[in-house]
Amino acid sequence: MACLICGCAAKEIPPASTFIEIDCPECGFFGLPKELADKIKSGECRLHVRRNRDYLAMRNEQKQGPWITPVDINIYQLLRRHGIGDGD
Ligand SMILES: [Zn+2]
Repeated sequence: MACLICGCAAKEIPPASTFIEIDCPECGFFGLPKELADKIKSGECRLHVRRNRDYLAMRNEQKQGPWITPVDINIYQLLRRHGIGDGD
């Protein structure tokens, strides 16, 4: 499947929980809630490429797992809003 951040060819790893794990050559390995993944797949919302990569890099520096959580999506504004150009 395509990476849910940038659309690159990536592999989806079967979820062990409510999280979907993605291993993308550009974004690296990360997980996000299945509920959010379903919304992205259906086109209901999109993730912001640069912000998500920055966010994952920050978590890596802080020795945290590469998980995009619902709380952090709000804090770091990781979702792109429809109809508003906000870069990449
Ligand atoms: Zn990617």
